[in-house]
Amino acid sequence: MQATLALVGRPNVGKSTLFNRLTRSRDALVANLPGLTRDRKYGLGRLGGRDYLVVDTGGLGEETDAIDALMGEQTRAAMREATHLLLLIDGRTGVTAGDEALAAELRVMGKPVYLVVNKVDTTTPDAALAEAYRLGLGEPLLISATRGSGLERLIERVIPGP
Ligand code: GDP
Ligand code: MG
Repeated sequence: MQATLALVGRPNVGKSTLFNRLTRSRDALVANLPGLTRDRKYGLGRLGGRDYLVVDTGGLGEETDAIDALMGEQTRAAMREATHLLLLIDGRTGVTAGDEALAAELRVMGKPVYLVVNKVDTTTPDAALAEAYRLGLGEPLLISATRGSGLERLIERVIPGP
């Protein structure tokens, strides 16, 4: 079964940057795959010998403080379609109430959830890391989406060996 990774997180945590990185090698929109809607951004990627489909949940509202806005229809649909859920947080700001709300939603989906701490190029992630552990999603994965660091390790952790 095709691994389908949904990138979920508050606005500006770096979802689209990560999407572009993960799909760089095969920057193809796959709107013609059966069953996929054009409303979400899909891309195929390959890293660490693993093939995957990644979904960017860009359709979140502007009202960043409301949980309903965070969990917009696009995000919910992407979460339903996905086989794996990646919750991104911003390592500079640490864990926010919005991150906690998202974590709670993801935890009850019955799918593997991975916590991804992004932007570690800008900060010593120790403080964010300690908070991140408390979200109860296991060991956080540290990445820099802009630099592309930590991505192969992330994919190898999320998708079992080929
Ligand atoms: P999205 O709203 O979650 O899709 O976030 P974007 O991918 O649009 O990124 C929001 C901002 O964070 C942009 O200015 C990015 O350049 C920046 N950003 C994303 N990833 C990183 C990273 O790893 N390091 C740094 N320093 N900035 C990042
Ligand atoms: Mg985006």
